[in-house]
Amino acid sequence: MRQSILFGKTQKQAPRGEVSTNAQLLIRGGFIDKVAAGIYSYLPLGLRVLNNIQQIIREEMIAIGAQEVLLPALHPKEPWEATGRWSDPGSKVMYQFDGHGGPFGLGWTHEELITPLVQKYVRSYRDLPVALFQIQDKFRNESRAKSGLLRGREFSMKDLYSFHRNMEDLDAYYARAIAAYKNIFNRCGLDALVVEASGGAFSKYSHEFQVPTDSGEDIIFSCASCDMHQNKEVVADIACPSCGKPRKELKGIEVGNIFKLGTRFTQAVNFTYTNEQGEAQPVLMGCYGIGPSRVLGAVAEVQHTAKGLRWPDTLAPFAVHILGAGKDTKKIEMKMLELYALLTQAGVAVLMDDRPGLSYGEHMADADLIGLPHRIIVGEKHLHENKVEYTSLAEAKTTPMPFDDVVGMLRK
Ligand code: ATP
Ligand code: MG
Repeated sequence: MRQSILFGKTQKQAPRGEVSTNAQLLIRGGFIDKVAAGIYSYLPLGLRVLNNIQQIIREEMIAIGAQEVLLPALHPKEPWEATGRWSDPGSKVMYQFDGHGGPFGLGWTHEELITPLVQKYVRSYRDLPVALFQIQDKFRNESRAKSGLLRGREFSMKDLYSFHRNMEDLDAYYARAIAAYKNIFNRCGLDALVVEASGGAFSKYSHEFQVPTDSGEDIIFSCASCDMHQNKEVVADIACPSCGKPRKELKGIEVGNIFKLGTRFTQAVNFTYTNEQGEAQPVLMGCYGIGPSRVLGAVAEVQHTAKGLRWPDTLAPFAVHILGAGKDTKKIEMKMLELYALLTQAGVAVLMDDRPGLSYGEHMADADLIGLPHRIIVGEKHLHENKVEYTSLAEAKTTPMPFDDVVGMLRK
């Protein structure tokens, strides 16, 4: 992509009233645009990152046997009345309104729709287990929406639901989901702790995945000696319940949350299956959420410098940023184009800063703000010996390298 035609521009200032670091950097870098508090548009740079996060999640869901579906965001009232969540406690977060065919609510979670859907297709033990996921925008009537992408009123969620014949099967799948979640956060460049939290309808705890950072809203009691972590909401004592050692208090961003729901939602619609003996048995259920847009915000929160964002290779909107430096612009431009063509043809995603009329300092400041992992500066200084300057942003180290070596290295 030529930066001269890339839609969206970098900005010196974030909009007034935007207090969170993630939204400030993402807006200034031209990744997102603010529509209202908790409501954002994704520009090409931001959408590429969001797509990368969603694709990683999709791959890890498919790897644990889940199939992708897409349910509506517009929900009629009836299924929510069946579970008792139309007025309580759903109404606290659900946007509800009248309309033709209404009343309606905007989906803030999907147990109410997925359970009757799966019920239509499951008769006997042979039809179980079932695991379905979707990646979709959710809507929540959040009272405070000051944390940028960390707390949207509309936000991206991946929600997986699994259906089982017994607790043993649910437990085994739940363990696989934890492993998949660890892979997802590792691949996104986040160190997420597995944290016991409240809200397990059929187990003592639910499990949250928390990224430790001071900008997080949750408080975690963390035991370094035995890697056991709990959300403050379930903590009874400063001592670790597992090894007795004192624990540290950390702040964290909840990027994922998984629950054993048991029969909480299946019972509401009388969803049973017949076992080998021909008897009707309740279907057990688990649900597993991740917020891709919150993950994007969390990466921006924990991986930035004073100059701007720092994307891991797996999420970066483009892998390589090509810039020019020097007065002999024609020669430099030719070399930049040659590099751009070679890398692009090899399937590398490249952003080439071909914008005219900017100073070297302005080009560099924008590149620092956008934060692509690999940077190549084609400069007068080294051009005569066919070298370019290569910078790995993660290492913050710049070295002159032969042109062919840089191409060879980045092609891999
Ligand atoms: P929180 O306690 O932060 O409000 P929650 O526990 O209500 O979140 P869940 O219902 O568990 O959220 O949703 C699953 C995942 O969706 C969360 O782990 C988070 O990654 C994401 N998420 C939830 N609410 C939001 C939001 N308002 N904006 C962005 N992502 C969200
Ligand atoms: Mg949660």
